[in-house]
Parts: sequence; structure tokens; C-alpha cells
Amino acid sequence: MKVYLNGSFVDQADAKISVFDHGLLYGDGIFEGIRLYGGCVFRLDEHLERLEYSAKAILLDLPWSRKELSDLVCEACRVNGLTDGYIRLIVTRGVGNLGLSPASCKKPGLIIIADSIELYPKEHYTKGLAIVTVATRRINPAALAPSIKSLNYLNNVLAKMEAAQYGALEAVMLNDQGFVAECTGDNLFLVRKGVLYTPVVSSGALRGITRDSVLELARKRGLEVAECQLSRYDIWIAEECFLTGTAAELIPVVKVDGRVIGNGRPGPVTHDLLEAFHEVVRKDGTRID
Ligand code: PMP
Repeated sequence: MKVYLNGSFVDQADAKISVFDHGLLYGDGIFEGIRLYGGCVFRLDEHLERLEYSAKAILLDLPWSRKELSDLVCEACRVNGLTDGYIRLIVTRGVGNLGLSPASCKKPGLIIIADSIELYPKEHYTKGLAIVTVATRRINPAALAPSIKSLNYLNNVLAKMEAAQYGALEAVMLNDQGFVAECTGDNLFLVRKGVLYTPVVSSGALRGITRDSVLELARKRGLEVAECQLSRYDIWIAEECFLTGTAAELIPVVKVDGRVIGNGRPGPVTHDLLEAFHEVVRKDGTRID
């Protein structure tokens, strides 16, 4: 596998960065996870726009245009002969001294990895996931906005490990007011009485590209959509629950904290949206050739 690293494509084994990169020293950097479906990069423009917003939020001037980044992402797929896969685009603050201040970092680092991914075992897409609410709270937006897709994922990592201690593959994270924020790497959706609910971004959720795409699909299908504050109670009384994410796509949830959601099987709205999503990923893309 060839990895794009600061100006050239290098062998995976040679894709090494400096120990003085502030991305490593302080998690000072941003990233995107992007999917390639049938030779098309799904919603590349939206991912690059989110990257630009993340950069702006951490006062990092991107020295690359959107077109340059877009071309490099496509090239990373071509170089590795991929038609389907997962792309990780990382921008680090760059190499500096041991001080916390980014002032010593003269040039941001750029890494693009195009690989494959399978986040959840296949059977969970038909049977549904069992997830748990963890005690680790989603970081307060006043401390570090979850809308910034930063290299600081320790909050999510700790929650993911907590879920694993209960034998679950994903965790519901509440914000410090006790409202549902999101999962460690996925957004959360509920269905009740023909309405599709998802936590409002200000509850501490990332504005997921898959989330936006599913909200659009739902609206097109005449479903009422509500982005609002949700509590665990809303999960308990939901008829359906599912998660969305670039890696996960759209995955049903049938149990939360041992409680059965709906009738314990993936519901009709989830099924319908999952099918619609699989259709749209082949259309809403940027061709890599
Ligand atoms: N929330 C978090 C914390 C994430 O890391 C991700 C991406 N893995 C998502 C939600 C889903 O966002 P997207 O659909 O853009 O992948």
C-alpha cells in the first residue's frame, strides 16, 4: 500500500512522521474518514468542507485548495488500485518544538491513507447491534467542540473501551447535562410514530456526513425529521434505533443497556433508509478517474 505523506506517495513501511509533530505530541490536528464506492468518493466536497471548518476552528491555515485535496484523495485511491475502500485524510499542525504553542510549527503535515475497512461484523447489519450507555460523558462543547473532527479522540476511545468492558461494540455517550450526544464514532437515530429523531449538533454531536445524507433521504421519503435534545427515555420508548457513520454506514440497534428496542428486530424505517442509502452512495460521488 502507498501512503501520501507530505508531498509524495511512499510505501506503507516508509510512511513515518517526526516525533516532534504536534499531531503526535498534542493531538493537534484534524482528520476526515471518507468512503470510496464503486470508483466514486462519497460526498468528497462535504468532507473537505468539514475539514476546512475544523481547520478554521483550530486556527490552522490549510495551504492546499479544496481542488488540490480532492485530486490527492482520488490519486491515493488510484495509486492503490482501489474501487471500494476507506480513506483517512489527516492534517497535523506539523513539526515544532516541545512547547504547546503551535507557533513553532511552520508547515502543516498532510497524510492520506486509502485502505479497506469493516467496522462491524456483517451479521450485525441484519440482526442489529446491542449497545450500552457509558459513564464517560461526551466532552463539553465549551471545552472542545465535538463538531471539530480533531485528532483528540481520547474521550471517544475511553468510551469505546468502557463499552467493550460490557461486551458491546459501540457506546451511547451523553453530554454533561445528561442528554444523548452521539456514539463514539457514529451518530444515533431513533424512530417513533413516523418521526425520525437525532440529537441536535449542539448536544455534542459531530455533524456526520452520513447523518446529513440520511436526514435528506428521510425528508425525501416524507418522513418527519426532528433534530432535538434527546434523553435516555427517548431511547427506551423508541420503536427503532440505528447508527450512522462513514465506516459503519447505517446499522440497526436492537438493544440498548439490555433493554429491547421496539420488537427486538431492525425496523421497517431502518430497512428502508438503509436500502436508500446504499443506492445513493453509488450516485453522490466524485469519480476517481
Ligand atoms: N461521531 C463521531 C464522534 C465520529 O467520529 C464520526 C465519524 N466516524 C461520526 C459521528 C459519523 O460521522 P460521518 O458520518 O461523517 O462519518
